[in-house]
Formats: sequence, C-alpha cells, structure tokens
Amino acid sequence: MATDRICIGLTYSLGTESKAKTVFRNSGEKYIGQKNAGQKHYRQKNKWQKNRWQKNRWQKNVGGKIGWQEYIGRENRRGNMTRLFQIVIVVLAVAWWPLCAGSSDGRPTGILTALPEEMQVLSQHLKDKRMRTFLGVTFQTGKLEGRKVVLATSGIGKINAAKTAALLLDRFNPGEVIFSGVAGGLNPDLAPGDIVIGTRTAQHDFGKLTERGFEPQTPTAETPLFIEAPGELLRAADRVAARVKLAPVLTTHGTRTPRVIRGVIITGDVFVASPTKVAELRETFKADAVEMEGAAVALVCWQQRVPCMVIRSISDKADVGAWEDFERFIKMAADNSARFTLELLRVLTEQPKVTP
Ligand code: SAH
Repeated sequence: MATDRICIGLTYSLGTESKAKTVFRNSGEKYIGQKNAGQKHYRQKNKWQKNRWQKNRWQKNVGGKIGWQEYIGRENRRGNMTRLFQIVIVVLAVAWWPLCAGSSDGRPTGILTALPEEMQVLSQHLKDKRMRTFLGVTFQTGKLEGRKVVLATSGIGKINAAKTAALLLDRFNPGEVIFSGVAGGLNPDLAPGDIVIGTRTAQHDFGKLTERGFEPQTPTAETPLFIEAPGELLRAADRVAARVKLAPVLTTHGTRTPRVIRGVIITGDVFVASPTKVAELRETFKADAVEMEGAAVALVCWQQRVPCMVIRSISDKADVGAWEDFERFIKMAADNSARFTLELLRVLTEQPKVTP
C-alpha cells in the first residue's frame, strides 16, 4: 500500500549514502537525497517532511519490508560501533596525553647548562629534535625520556645565564626549569662526581664592598638573597638520588659510589680557585658548591613564578688545584649531572604537577 520508503539511521560511517542508493535501486525505487548532518533520510517520491513524521512513517511501513529492516539494522549497528570506537579513541587520548606531553599541563621542562660538555648526554638522548635560535641562543626542543623538553646552553656566567633563562621563559613557557652542570666543591666531604641538589641558591658576588670587606646584597622583594627551590622538585630529586646510576667517584682510597646531598649552591662571575675564598664563602653562605650561573637562572624563574632547581656535580674543589681538576673531571661530572637530570625527568613524569 504505502509507496513512501524512508530510511532513518545514525550515519556517521562512510559509504552509507552509496549503500542506501544500492538498496533503493535493488528495490526498484528512486533515491532522492539526504538531509541533516548526523542523520540521513532517504525516501521516494514525496517531498522531504518533518523528522517526527518520517520516523512514524518509517516505523509503520517497515514491518512488512524485511529488506529495509535489515538494512536499517546494519546501519544502526554500524553507527553505534563507530561511536563506540570514537569514545575509545577519546578516552585513550585523554589517558595518554600526560605521558606524551610530559608535564601534566602540556608545558615543556626547560633544561639549561652553561657548557656544551654539560649538554652532551642530554642532547644525545633527545628525540624529535628541532632547533630554534633567539638573540644568538640556540634552543633544542624535543622529548627526553618521553617528556617534552627545551634545552639550551647559556655560556659561562650570570649574564649569559640570565639572558638564556629569560628567553626560555618568554619563548617556550616551561612548566619548570632545571639547571644541570658542574661546580667547585666547598663542602670538604664532596669529591669530583658527587652531586649537590640545590635547596637554595644565592649570588655570592652581589653586594657591598667597603673597607670592612664584602657584604652580601640587602634582600629586596624582587631580589631575595637566597632563592629557595620548590619542595616538589626537591622531593623528586630525593627519589632520583635513591635510584640513579652514576659513574663512580675517584678518591685517594680508591673509588666509591657518588654522594648525592641536598645543599646550598652559590653563584658568582668568577672561577674560584682559592682556599681563602672557599673559607670565606663557606662562612658567609654556608654553601656546599660554587658555580657561575645557577642563582641567575633561579632568580629569573623565581620572579616569574616558574619552579626552578639547580643540580650540580662536583668537578673540582675550588682550591689551588681547581683548574687542573676541572679539566680532568669536567666530562665525568657533567655526565653524572646529566644522568641525574634524565632520571629526574622520569620521576617528574611519574609524579603530579609541580607548583612554584
Ligand atoms: N673551561 C672554561 C671555563 C669554565 S668556567 C673555559 O676555558 O672557558 C667553570 C664552569 O664550571 C662554569 O660554568 C661554572 O659554573 C662551573 N665551575 C666549576 N668549578 C667552578 C669553580 N671552582 N668556580 C666557579 N665555577 C665553577
């Protein structure tokens, strides 16, 4: 009796329209067209009508027409499977995203070093490497241990370090910044290859020089004397200390496993190779290691509320033999710091987001 035949199905899948055409052709009827984005309606002869009417009409007509019923059944099953597949893809993407992106909000981790030797191991492990240069500073982006990172070598000293840190924050918006490199040991218990996790950093050459001698800067709201490292990064570093594999340390009694300590790291624009200066720095700052960039990077990050931590491996003891020791141990110490940093990236990916 009824001449109108209507197919209503959720048709997200491809090829549905051609299938409908075939069905119409096989049943000797004419395909008219489709309507609506998600739903496609096919009918013969009459004009398009309201959805509700079409559905009623279809339900009424379909009873005696097995071919149509089967076709529509397949159609709906296909639609449901497609939607299920889409949901699975979305769920997997959401679950996988933090692992792919590194930091949980998708921001990269910035890693700075002063010297190319300090960058070597990190650069070798970098996947999907891309280079970008700003104001003469080359930044490498990519993934380290599955985490999104930006790497840069600043050059020696506070000015180079501060410039690189400012560019890093401005151009790459990192979620946290790690400085990895070597330092002179002030703490007598430390030997080349040992690691200092910087709990706080300070500029040891920023202050007042009078007849009475040198006095450290007076802290201001924008420039504290000591910059504290955030607790989450320190706790992550402690976890690294418990599991990282480092090159052994050479002592007068043979080799030993490197020590990893939490300590104070101070920064100035001089290479320290003087026992007198070592005594003074230890007295004034209670410092464990001295270097030439850390506090500059930490201050720039602190002012922008970006979490920052300095990791240094000892290359020398800042004494009269410092220069020779530096030359001898730079590679081993730089590699130990880089290995520690690589492990830190793994730990950071395992633990929740870091706040300043
Ligand atoms: N080899 C370089 C000089 C390196 S300066 C050259 O010839 O130009 C030392 C570097 O290592 C700096 O980046 C500093 O951060 C760190 N460092 C290691 N030992 C140090 C020390 N005793 N005093 C100050 N910085 C030291």
